[in-house]
Amino acid sequence: MGRRQYPWVWADVPWSEAQLLTRGKHDGLPLLSKGLADRAILATRRQLRRQGLRPGGQDPVAILYFYSRKAGGKVFANLYLIAKAKPVRPMTPAKWHALNKANLARRTCPECHRDVLYVIYPSVGMCFACLETSETTKAAQTAA
Ligand SMILES: [Zn+2]
Repeated sequence: MGRRQYPWVWADVPWSEAQLLTRGKHDGLPLLSKGLADRAILATRRQLRRQGLRPGGQDPVAILYFYSRKAGGKVFANLYLIAKAKPVRPMTPAKWHALNKANLARRTCPECHRDVLYVIYPSVGMCFACLETSETTKAAQTAA
């Protein structure tokens, strides 16, 4: 692999006032080889993820290429601006709602259908009030 496929090119890049050394263009974006991408400014999706970030709707500003034995050759990865990245979506209202609903279901007694404010023991299958009632009934039936 001695052939130099990508010539060194000084180019304007969106994240720097000054021209930077690139390896030309790929899909209309500056192409960078490993080491050319400033890790404090640019990150791949995977690198962002490791920092608890996501691209957040921004378009990639550059393409990074590197050779990966695992991938069996050349790999291209989109590079995003860390400054424009957003935190990984924490809990959305919809997610909270779903969680609350799930919890509510677990707190609702199948017998009396009340939200008893604690999780019904699956092994018992009813709230304590209903359990007491059923035990009392059972005891009464036994006594009778
Ligand atoms: Zn109940």
